[in-house]
Amino acid sequence: MADCIFCEILAGRVAAEVVHESSKALAFLDVFPAARGHVLVVPRAHVPTLLDLGDAAVGDLFLAVKAVQAKVQRALGPAGMNVGWNHGLAAGQHVHHLHVHVIPRFEDGGRGIQVMGSGGDRAELPAVAAALRSA
Ligand code: 5GP
Ligand code: ZN
Repeated sequence: MADCIFCEILAGRVAAEVVHESSKALAFLDVFPAARGHVLVVPRAHVPTLLDLGDAAVGDLFLAVKAVQAKVQRALGPAGMNVGWNHGLAAGQHVHHLHVHVIPRFEDGGRGIQVMGSGGDRAELPAVAAALRSA
């Protein structure tokens, strides 16, 4: 897609440090790494979010994520990793081509992605669950 930096990388028109590739996905180092070994895993198809990715392609993407995690573990030996993606501008997505961040953590006792939430009311759990079940 025009004006998509990750499509440009996929097409080979913009350089990237590729670390894994498959027929449906590509993985390369984030050029502004949040940690040593920060990898982005992208589907070859241009889709903005996971909700736009065809079901048949979801498995391929997550197989690539798994392969990248295994490579990161073998090569760099982190104590842990945060793996996930930003969905939408409000959640910090700035490149609107779906990408999964694999961010190694090298120290114990780190905080998980829950710290990014704004908090919720436990008393609302049944109502929230009911709303989700019926959606
Ligand atoms: P987002 O905030 O959209 O979830 O993350 C986008 C990521 O893409 C950022 O971490 C940013 O550093 C990375 N990024 C942006 N432009 C480029 C680029 O041209 N090459 C590479 N390798 N990473 C990029
Ligand atoms: Zn794209």
